Amino acid sequence: MEDKRKIRICINWAGACGGCDVAILDIEEKIFDIVEMADIVYWPVAMDFKREDLKAWGKNSIDIGIFNGVVRTSEQEEDAEILREKCKLLVSLGSCACFGGIPGLANTSDREGVFEVCYKETPSTDNPQYVTPKTEFEMDGYKLELPEFYDTVKALHQVVDVDYYIPGCPPTREQIIDVVNIIKTFVETGELPPKGTVIASEKALCDECDRAKTRENKRIEKVYRPHQIVADSEKCFLDQGIICMGPATRGGCGQKCIKVNMPCRGCFGPTKAMLDPGAEAMSAIGSILGTGEDYVSVEKIVEILKGLKDPLGTFYRFTLPVAIINRAVKDEKKEEK
Ligand code: SF4
Ligand code: SF4
Ligand code: SF4
Repeated sequence: MEDKRKIRICINWAGACGGCDVAILDIEEKIFDIVEMADIVYWPVAMDFKREDLKAWGKNSIDIGIFNGVVRTSEQEEDAEILREKCKLLVSLGSCACFGGIPGLANTSDREGVFEVCYKETPSTDNPQYVTPKTEFEMDGYKLELPEFYDTVKALHQVVDVDYYIPGCPPTREQIIDVVNIIKTFVETGELPPKGTVIASEKALCDECDRAKTRENKRIEKVYRPHQIVADSEKCFLDQGIICMGPATRGGCGQKCIKVNMPCRGCFGPTKAMLDPGAEAMSAIGSILGTGEDYVSVEKIVEILKGLKDPLGTFYRFTLPVAIINRAVKDEKKEEK
C-alpha cells in the first residue's frame, strides 16, 4: 500500500443469528493483530456506531467490508448496497451471506406464509387480531415506516458484487485467522487472493474425511436419523445408513461434526464443481440405494427412503436460495380457477 495508514474495516450484520459476529471474536488474541493493522470504522453489533456513520464515508474509502446474514428486507438490501459502495473489497461471511443459510429455507413459502406461521400459528402466539408488521403505520400521531419484508431470502452476491466468501455456520476460528493473515499480507505487500476466492478447501469433505468408506460395494437397507443409532465412529456415515452431506459439501472445516461422531449437515456449501448441492447429495445417496448387479425394486427404495425425514431441509439446509430451484412459486393460473 502507498501510505502507512491503518486499513479500514467495517462489519455489518443483516438477517443473521449473531453467530458469525461471535466467530470473529472467537479468534482470541489474534484480534490484537486486527487492532494493530486496522481501524474498525463500523461494527454496530459490537460498538456504538450508527448507520449514518457508515453513510458518511466516501465511495471506496473503506478497504474491507464484511457482511454476515441474509438479505430479506429492504433495509438489509440497502445495507448491502451501502457496503458495496463504500468498500473496495466486500466479503460474504458465513453460510447465510454465502448461500442464504438456514433462513433461506423460508423460500419454501412467501411473506404471507411466513407471517401466518410467526404471527398466528406458533403455539406460543396470542394474536387474535392477526396483527402483522406493516411497512407504514401510525403511532401516537406519528407516521412511521418499517423496512419492507421481501418474499424471498437472498445471499449477498445475489444482490451486489462480492469479492470473497467465507462459508460456515459459523465459520471456524481457523478461517477467520486465515482472513487476518490475508489482511496482513495485503497491508504489507498489497497482494490479495484472486477475486471470488472461497476461504476453505477446494475439495469435497469426503475427500478429507478419515472414515472407512465401503460405499461402492454396499447398499443400505434403512435410513437412520443420528439419534436412532449409535454410529460407528470409524465408518462412513452413509455406509451406516445415516445421511451425511459430505459428498456435496466443500471441505475445510476440519471435519468438525464428523470428529464428534455427527454427520455433516452441509454448512460449507458446495464446491465450484458442484452445480447444485442438494442434487449432488441426492445422487450420492441414490448410488447406495440400488447400484450394482442386483435389482432393487422401486417399492423397496421407497420403503428405505421413508426413514429420510425432511428431504428439503436435509439436502438444502444451508443452500436453498442458491440452488437451481431456489424458491416456491405460485401457480397463479391454478389459483385463479
Ligand atoms: S451463518 Fe450460521 S452463525 Fe452465521 S449468521 Fe447465519 S445462522 Fe448465524
Ligand atoms: S459421507 Fe460423511 S462420513 Fe462418509 S466419507 Fe463423506 S464426509 Fe466422511
Ligand atoms: S462437518 Fe459439515 S456441517 Fe459440520 S462444520 Fe463441517 S461442513 Fe459444516
